This record gives sequence, structure tokens and C-alpha cells, in this order.
Amino acid sequence: MNYNVNENGYYGDFGGAYIPEMLYPNVEELRQNYIKVMQEPEFQEEFHELLREYVGRPTPLYFAKRFSEKYGTKVYLKREDLCHTGAHKVNNTIGQILMAKRLGKTRIIAETGAGQHGVATATVCALMGLECIVYMGAVDIKRQAPNVARMKMLGAKVVPAESGSKTLKDATNEAIRDWINNPTDTHYIIGSVVGPHPYPDMVARFQSVISEEVKKQLVEKEGRENPDYVVACVGGGSNAAGIYYHYLDNPNVGIIAVEAAGKGIDSGESAATSALGKEGIIHGSKTLLMQTPDGQITEPYSISAGLDYPGVGPMHAHLFRSGRGEFISITDDAAMQAGLELSKLEGIIPAIETSHALAIFKDRKFKKDDVVVINLSGRGDKDLNTYIEYFNLA
Ligand SMILES: *Cc1c(COP(=O)(O)O)cnc(C)c1O
Repeated sequence: MNYNVNENGYYGDFGGAYIPEMLYPNVEELRQNYIKVMQEPEFQEEFHELLREYVGRPTPLYFAKRFSEKYGTKVYLKREDLCHTGAHKVNNTIGQILMAKRLGKTRIIAETGAGQHGVATATVCALMGLECIVYMGAVDIKRQAPNVARMKMLGAKVVPAESGSKTLKDATNEAIRDWINNPTDTHYIIGSVVGPHPYPDMVARFQSVISEEVKKQLVEKEGRENPDYVVACVGGGSNAAGIYYHYLDNPNVGIIAVEAAGKGIDSGESAATSALGKEGIIHGSKTLLMQTPDGQITEPYSISAGLDYPGVGPMHAHLFRSGRGEFISITDDAAMQAGLELSKLEGIIPAIETSHALAIFKDRKFKKDDVVVINLSGRGDKDLNTYIEYFNLA
């Protein structure tokens, strides 16, 4: 079986481009050009130079000695938390801003929920001197004041979405409306492996630098390219796609995807899409989606804003349905404990999204000689207030 995208933009039964006719020219322009542009030597050179000089890549592959001892297996952490802006998201926004420039675009739009993708987008727009408009739900603007301030400092215009629940999906609707109205000069930077084809594939290719580096780094440390397992948390699925990418078709490498169970899968407050989702269409893509019996999208919940998404990207829906990926869901409480544990054992405070991936070791046992690589997708600075309240650290 093939786990990558096919020429029609599908991963198995999932993917495609389910878009209004008005959006067709924009998406089609991107579809016809993205691979051609990405394969240009000058594009590759500029992309990798920025990843090296601006983002700080390659990020270390760190052997977590004390954590490994505790769980009786060999655990490596891929340190995406050390990227400029504190997470993997910037790998994608660097790639897309270069793509936008190659396509002659002068205006960048994005949507953001917690603000992390908005900040990563505003950062690269400042770097390139391009106009940046970030749509954000009015409720989220109130909840995420520090990230709103960051975006403003970076020169972005933050536009509140006042419709519906005034959160991420409403911001996405506003961004799509803007793109329809500005088809020629505007590029829409989507922040994960979601949205209509070619976005999931394009974002996965930009993030694939993560597993490209792991292959080289593991040869140095273990004398082999392939770990026994790669593990990542899944919101939309971009950090996971990045660490799975070069191992997708290698059956000797186990793929583990970790979703947010929130207060418990059956609590009604969860974001465990593989456990609860049914086939449906969200943001222009056919995928697994949490929905009511009549097809309305269910509000997801997780303590971590980055996992609080009602769907997953089509690659992950296919990994789940085909059985290639092992899906595990982790509650808020288990994730918070795992974040505290990594801080104490390794001196690394992880983002709460990442803490979900770290929490699997309590129940999922590995062999002593297994090499398990976890994508440490981001650092915990942005989550300090949540950690403070949860553990009463003040
Ligand atoms: C946004 C975010 C995620 C979730 O997004 P994916 O597209 O699933 O990777 C995970 N970790 C961190 C640190 C994030 O900022």
C-alpha cells in the first residue's frame, strides 16, 4: 500500500479538494506549480539556507538518558522546540512564503486559533517585508493576548472573526472569504497538513526536513537510519507528518500518533478524532471529522490549544484507517503529568501539545533495545500560565 499522496491529491479514501468554484483558480494555480517550484535548485538552496541561518536547523536529536532509564527503552527527542519561534510551525511558513514570492504574491493571509501559526506567519512576513493579515476568532483574541501582541509587533494586522463561535473555524471562513476576493495578489498560508490538495502534501514536504535530519543523525548515534518507532502528537498533523515522512513506506518503522482525549474520550470534551470521527469534509478536504449525526462539526476540546481541532489531515486519516499508524489518545491530566516529568528528568519544559506524545510511556511498553524517536514539537514557554494554574506553581 502507498501512504503518500497520489496524483489526484488523495491518501487512500481521504484528501482531494472540495472547494467552492470561486476558489478554484487560486487552488489550481498552486496545484500546478508547487512541485515544480519546490524542485528548483535555487528554491531548495534558499529554503535550506533560511532553515540553517534563520530557524537554527538542523535541530539536535537528543538522547534522553534519564527518561530512557525510567521507561526501560531508548528514547530520542527531536528538538523542534529549539527552532526560532519555539516550534516546528516555522519550517512550513518559511517554505510557503518562498512559494508565495515565486508565484508573484505580495499579500499574505492566514488563520490562527491559539496564535502560534499566526506568529509563525507574521514572523516570515516581517522577514520578507510582505503584507500580513491574520484572521482570528474574537474569543481567541481575548484568550491569547500575548500572541496577538507578538503578531502586532511583527507588523501583522490581526482581524477578529465575529461570526459563529468566534473561534478557529470562523477565522478560517474569514480567511477563505478574503482569498476568494483577492485571487491574484494573495497567498493563503495554511498552518498544518489540512485543507484542499495540494496543501496537505505541500506542508508535509516542507516539514519532511525533520525526518530527513533524523535519518542522518540516527546513523551517527545508532549506526542505522531507521528507528523502531516514530512518535508525534497530532492536531492537524504537521509535526507528525514531518517526522513520519521518510519512514511512511518502511514497514520496519512503527508509526505512533497521539491525539488529545481531553477530559476522556467519552466525556463529550475531547479532540480524539480517530476514536470519535466519521468521514466528512472540513476545510476543503475529505477526512475523519468529529461531527453530529446530521453532519455538523462538533466543538473539540483539549487543554492544549494546538490539539484542539475537530479533524485530522487526510494523511493521518489514511494511516488510521489502513492500520499503518497506531493511534493513542491521552487525557489532559496524563499530558500535564508527562510535561512535568520531562521537565524534572531532562530539564526541558515541553509545549502541552508535545506532552501528550511523552505521556504514552505509562501504558505503551517498548523493548529495552527499541529506538523510539519522539518529535518534541515545541517549547512550553507559551503554556506557562496553564502549567502554573494546573500545578499551583504560583
Ligand atoms: C500547533 C502545534 C501542534 C499541533 O499542530 P500539528 O499540525 O498537528 O503539528 C503541536 N505542537 C506544537 C508545539 C504546536 O505549536
